[in-house]
Amino acid sequence: MPIRTDYCGEVSSADIGRTVTVCGWVDTRRVHSEHLAFVDVRDHTGVVQVVVDERSEVRSEYVVAITGTVRARPDGMVNAALATGEIEIADTTVDILNAAEPPPFPMNERTDVDESIRLRHRYVDLRRPKMQRNLRIRSKVNSAIRGAMERQGFVEIETPMLIASTPEGARDFVVPSRQNPGDFYALPQSPQLFKQLSMVGGFDKYYQIARCLRDEDLRADRQFEFMQLDAEASFVNQEDVFAFISEAVADATEAVTGERPENIPQMTYAEAQERYGSDKPDVRFGMELQELTELFTETESNVFKTAAVKGICMKGGADTLGRNAIDDLTDKAKRWGAKGLAWFRVRDEGLEGALTKFMSEAEIAGVQSGLAAESGDMVFLIADDRRTANRVLGLLRLELGKPPVNEGGFHFLWITEFPLFEDVIDGNPIPAHHPFTMPHPDDVDLLDTAEGDGWLDIRSQAYDLVLNGWELGSGSIRIHRSDVQSRIFEILGIGEEEQRAKFGFLLDAFRFGAPPHGGFAFGIDRLTALLAGEENIREVIAFPKTQSGADLLTNAPGPIEAGQLDELGLRVVPRTD
Ligand code: ASP
Repeated sequence: MPIRTDYCGEVSSADIGRTVTVCGWVDTRRVHSEHLAFVDVRDHTGVVQVVVDERSEVRSEYVVAITGTVRARPDGMVNAALATGEIEIADTTVDILNAAEPPPFPMNERTDVDESIRLRHRYVDLRRPKMQRNLRIRSKVNSAIRGAMERQGFVEIETPMLIASTPEGARDFVVPSRQNPGDFYALPQSPQLFKQLSMVGGFDKYYQIARCLRDEDLRADRQFEFMQLDAEASFVNQEDVFAFISEAVADATEAVTGERPENIPQMTYAEAQERYGSDKPDVRFGMELQELTELFTETESNVFKTAAVKGICMKGGADTLGRNAIDDLTDKAKRWGAKGLAWFRVRDEGLEGALTKFMSEAEIAGVQSGLAAESGDMVFLIADDRRTANRVLGLLRLELGKPPVNEGGFHFLWITEFPLFEDVIDGNPIPAHHPFTMPHPDDVDLLDTAEGDGWLDIRSQAYDLVLNGWELGSGSIRIHRSDVQSRIFEILGIGEEEQRAKFGFLLDAFRFGAPPHGGFAFGIDRLTALLAGEENIREVIAFPKTQSGADLLTNAPGPIEAGQLDELGLRVVPRTD
C-alpha cells in the first residue's frame, strides 16, 4: 500500500507540481470524457478531485489510495466553494484498498435519512462530514474540560462501575453477581457517593469525566448512559463551585466557538419561576411572565378570583396567531394543567378576544400596561394557583418564542436555592436533587415543623447550570455530618435499619472526619450538542441508542444463553402485561 503523503482536504495550489498520495473513500464519480473520470476522494479533512482512467473500477465508498501530480484546474473548472477547488490530482495511479457495497443511504448531507437506518449503519454514518465535525467538537470539549480542571488543581480519580445503588432519582441498571447468585450490583447513576468519600479521604479537589447510567425514558436530551464532568471539592462554598465549573464550561465554549462566556449570571429558583415559569429558563428571548394578581383583587368574575393571575405578551402576535393556533394553544394549556387560557389581541380599534367580557375596563387597562402591550400584540393570561400559572405560562412562552437551537448565542445561567423537596407522596417528601444535599441555612428549622405542601417551601443549597433552556447539570453543598444526614433520611421515610443497610458506609465515613464539601456535575453530551448546534444529543454521540433504548448496530439488548442464566441463578419469567 502506498504511503499517504497528504490529507485530501489539505492539498492546495501551493502543492502544484508535487506528486502526492491521498487515501480515503470515493465520494462521487463523474465521467468526464471517453477516457477520463473525475473522482472526489474524501477523508475527514474534506474532498479532493482526482482524475482517473475512466476504466478504473472505483465506486462510491471504495477505499482507495491515489498517487498523482497536483495541477491547477483548467479555467472555468475552479470550484470556489471547495477548499481544494483550485486544484486536482492528475496522472494518477489508483490502488483499490477495499471494495464496498453501495452505501445504505446517500452520503451527502442534503438528503434526510431515516435515523434508524443511520444508526444501523453507524460506521457509514460516522463518515459523513456532520458526524465527523460533531465528534471532533466533542473531543475538543472533553479536552478543554480536562485542561481546565487540571489547571485548577483537580485530581482525576476513577470510581467503580459495579457498585451498590446511588440514588439520583432514576431506576438503576443492575448486574447479577455470578459468585453470589441472587445478589446484584447497580451501575452508577453517578459517582456521587464515591466523590464524597474521596473528600473524606482528603483529596480536596476531585474530578472525573464519568459515565453515568440511568434507566429512565429516553428523550432528545437523554440517553441511558451519558457522560458528565463530575467534580467535588472540600472547604468550599457555592461561589467556589460556580467559579471552577464556570472555568470548565467557558474553556469548552471558547475551544469550540472562539468566544468565551464571562461572568455567568445567577438567578434564584424562585425568581426563575416567577419570571420564566421554569427552573431552566431560556433567556435568549424576553416575553417574561408578568405579575398581574393585584389588578384583580376586586374582580367580579370567578375566572380571575384565583391565587395568581400572570400574563405574557407576544409582540406582533395579533397578526401571526389565527384562531386555530389559539385553539391549539388553549388545548395545550389545559393539557399542561391550567383551567383555561385567557387571551386578547390588542388593536387600535379595541380588543378582540375570549374572556375580556369577564374583565372590567380598569382590569383590561391594567393588564395592557402591566404587559406593555401595544396595538398588534397578543396577550395571554392564566388565572390559577401560582405554581400552575407560572408553569403553564412558562411552557406557553417557549412554544411562542423559543429560537432554534443554533441561534441567539450561548446564555449560561446559574439557578440557585432550589427547593430541597420537589413533591410529597404519601406524606413523605421526595428530594428535588439527591438526599445528600444540604438544606439552606435559613430554612433548617423548618425541617422540624413542615407539614403537607409546606415541605416544598424549604430551600436547599442546590444549584443548576442552565444553557439556552437546557439543564446542563446540577450540584450542591453536601451534608457532611452523620446526624444531619440521618435526619434527612428519616424525613424521606428511610428508617434506621434501611439507612444502615443502604448508606451505613456513608454515615460511618461522616463520623471519621468528613470535611465540609460540595460539587457539581454537568452533561458533556448536552453541552456538546448545544455548542454543535444540534437539537438531539444522539448527533454528538458516536454510538447512541434509539428512543426506545435499542442499539440497532449490535442488537442490544438481547437474550442471553440458558447456561449464563443458570450460572447467575436467574430464570426469565415471561411478562404478562
Ligand atoms: N450527582 C449529581 C448528578 O449527577 C451531581 C452532583 O450533585 O454533583 O446529578
